[in-house]
Amino acid sequence: MYKLKKHSKDIDWYWMTFYQVTSLLRACLDFNSFSFNNKLYQQGRGLAMGSRLAPMLAVIYMDSIEFPARSLSNICFYRYIDDIIVLAASKEDLNEIFQCLNSQSNFIKLTREEPTNGWLPFLNFELRIQDNSIVHRWYRKPSSKNLLVRFDSFHPIKQKSNIVVNTIRTAKSCSTSDNKSYSENLALRVLEKNGYNISKQKSNRPFYQKRVSVQTNVDHCIMTIPFMGDMVTKRIRNILKEFELDTQVVELKGRSLKDILVKNRCFESTCNHRDCRICEKFGIGKCNVKGVIYKITCDCGEFYIGETGRPFESRFAEHRRACNKPMTKSYSSSVWAKHSKEKHGGEALVIDVDILEVERNTNIRKIREGVLIKHHNSSLNNKEELSDMITRLGTIQIPNSF
Ligand SMILES: [Zn+2]
Ligand SMILES: [Zn+2]
Repeated sequence: MYKLKKHSKDIDWYWMTFYQVTSLLRACLDFNSFSFNNKLYQQGRGLAMGSRLAPMLAVIYMDSIEFPARSLSNICFYRYIDDIIVLAASKEDLNEIFQCLNSQSNFIKLTREEPTNGWLPFLNFELRIQDNSIVHRWYRKPSSKNLLVRFDSFHPIKQKSNIVVNTIRTAKSCSTSDNKSYSENLALRVLEKNGYNISKQKSNRPFYQKRVSVQTNVDHCIMTIPFMGDMVTKRIRNILKEFELDTQVVELKGRSLKDILVKNRCFESTCNHRDCRICEKFGIGKCNVKGVIYKITCDCGEFYIGETGRPFESRFAEHRRACNKPMTKSYSSSVWAKHSKEKHGGEALVIDVDILEVERNTNIRKIREGVLIKHHNSSLNNKEELSDMITRLGTIQIPNSF
């Protein structure tokens, strides 16, 4: 708050007042809770992880911690998040700066590292003073596993060559000119540990330096295929070339372990509805699932296929109400009103429901709905979904599970 006030003239307040902004900040920061083992906790100190305010406030807080120490005698003083590097003329100066930093808050306790063999590590490089100037080179922590995508892993060769290029480029960019070859060798060792066999002495250019031609023609078609190995892609490209088809082949990644294992829809496993027909039939929580393609069958055998991005129960409840009172004015335009009038003399309809598929991606869901309507030859659908499906086909990349 003090800093906000101090710099209030430099800030664009977007027609809000100081009081409004600080009240909003307080509201956001006080609501700092998390759940663990189904219990809710309020965080007493610190900022919530993932809060958008957290990084900015951490920077402001650290600024107030380091401000007094910066004014003490130093040659250089840099900080990245919570890593600080300080160079000073003597050990006494350094001790003074260190004590000053540590005396600013009871909650921030800094530790310090001293140079080993003359080199002081900081972030991903290490530095030393040599001939009155600072030199630096790439640094890997001894505890670092140095894991990269392995060369023998099933990834496109282009991705692997980018890993090689980027690792070497990072290593070199962390180095002053006299240490570039040290850093490059370190990078090559890390790469070798991950199965990349790259020899610097090779006369012919290594695979990662081979130029890949980039097509600049924007009018060509794009053909998306699941990644099935470089050989398969190459063969497909060659065949397209053979038939003089101006088509660019793009490989799509398959499902990652994260896609398969991570579940972040915890609210879809509970049910708050009384006598829930959906959960009774399909299992607890199914009424809250979003992205369902469903089939509603009238007891005469005719059926309707639909989809919804909302929780399934909310959409199904609308159908249920229309079926219970098909002749009510508000439902007069529904398929059920029409069906009841034509086949059941305007009486209430007895219906059953099935979940056909669950798909969260709206485009894919609408296309699947269209496919299912066509496949089941649903009599109650007006087939508008089919033209919608065709429009959407042009807008998506179809994943390999499709
Ligand atoms: Zn339910
Ligand atoms: Zn019917």
